Amino acid sequence: MKAVAVFPGTHEVRVIDQPPPPVAKGTEVLLKVREVGICGTDREIAAFEYGDPPPGEDHLVIGHEALAQVEAVGPGVTKLRPGDLVIPSVRRPCLHEDCLACRAGRQDFCVTGDFRERGIKQTHGFLTEQTVEEEGNLTRVPPELADVAVLTEPLTIAAKAVQQVKTLQQRLPWEPAKQRAVVLGAGPVGLLGAMTMVAHGFETHVYSMEPQDSDRADLVRSFGAGYLSGQDVKPEELGKKLGNIDLIYEAVGHAKLAFTALESLGPNGLFIFTGIPPLSGDTPLPADHLMRNIVLENQLLFGTVNASRSAYALALKLLGQCMELFPDSVRRIITAHRSIEDAPGMLLERTGIKEVVRLAWN
Ligand code: BGC
Repeated sequence: MKAVAVFPGTHEVRVIDQPPPPVAKGTEVLLKVREVGICGTDREIAAFEYGDPPPGEDHLVIGHEALAQVEAVGPGVTKLRPGDLVIPSVRRPCLHEDCLACRAGRQDFCVTGDFRERGIKQTHGFLTEQTVEEEGNLTRVPPELADVAVLTEPLTIAAKAVQQVKTLQQRLPWEPAKQRAVVLGAGPVGLLGAMTMVAHGFETHVYSMEPQDSDRADLVRSFGAGYLSGQDVKPEELGKKLGNIDLIYEAVGHAKLAFTALESLGPNGLFIFTGIPPLSGDTPLPADHLMRNIVLENQLLFGTVNASRSAYALALKLLGQCMELFPDSVRRIITAHRSIEDAPGMLLERTGIKEVVRLAWN
């Protein structure tokens, strides 16, 4: 059985041959992996800057954005059947008794850092022909979403963020109306974030470096968001250009840009960080000015990583909504389907928006 693995000791990324997984026991499910999306995290792992193999092993099977099909179920499985399409979640809880987050099934909020992540941290991932997973880590996909369902895991980032926004906005004793959102970045996370904001009724603008006449800008406009190019507008001018900004959704992983844009956030605004910047040194910031604004304007800044089971269900609902509102735009995010043999090359070089490895289709 083929899989794609990184070998940190020898700095290799290659297709390997490994034995098929054992029969599903108890509440386990045997999965045939259909598609795996490649993201920035995978590329960092393939550059040996992030990620860890399981303890005692020399390699890590990569891949965490998966769409799979149930092949067989263990005797304790109650909800899934062979043939069902599913999305596996990524993070597994730490084992510390006093980690209240993990004990509550919210390992996305783990406080010890000893969680494991499939395809990222100490557990093999999904870029393999078959794998076994616990039923509780799988969310069923409506068959009509099959062709875009591989976008579910990256969409959980926006789904979890929106869940948090709703909770945080309960601090306002009125129903926020006509809100304006700015998304920083037009990669897959930014585009899916912008679609989410549009689907939730925000007047949405995407700010990115590509020019106004680029395909990305055209894609952004196709689902009803506005596009601002970094080639025409400086990040410090965003507020002046757009007016009051209620929410900024950061999806570039660039600290200088993020904090410059933060200066444009309006009163009572929310700033959501989703990008992970490289640790390239100290970035100088106008800290006094930012702190004044944060206090005097009741602003909230928060980061969001990983996702809970409920965010997967929410992401699939959101995907369904987006497919009703602007199906062609959603499909345009997936720019390539490639074979498993092409995967090592895809990990080294990015050519489109979301590139997907297709292992099996029927
Ligand atoms: C994954 C998350 C994971 C994070 C940090 C992201 O690419 O989507 O599931 O928690 O990387 O490892």
